[in-house]
Amino acid sequence: AYVVADPCIKCKYTDCVEVCPVNCFYEGANFLVIHPDECIDCGACEPVCPTKAIFPETELPEQWKEYKALNADLSTKW
Ligand code: SF4
Repeated sequence: AYVVADPCIKCKYTDCVEVCPVNCFYEGANFLVIHPDECIDCGACEPVCPTKAIFPETELPEQWKEYKALNADLSTKW
């Protein structure tokens, strides 16, 4: 699955939400998150993110590793 990381915080753009074919973006406290079981790994959101906050989970930068669990936790709360 794809993961939203730190650069998304306080970003007001929702281009990613608009291109996602399966609507798997959810609103976290102050950033968007991706539901790991709903994401189909299409990759459409990654290039449209203005802050480059979206990564395939296998390419998540070391300093943002905890975002994988954060995306899972915050997206399944609803
Ligand atoms: Fe949605 Fe595709 Fe991005 Fe997954 S990779 S969150 S399915 S746009």
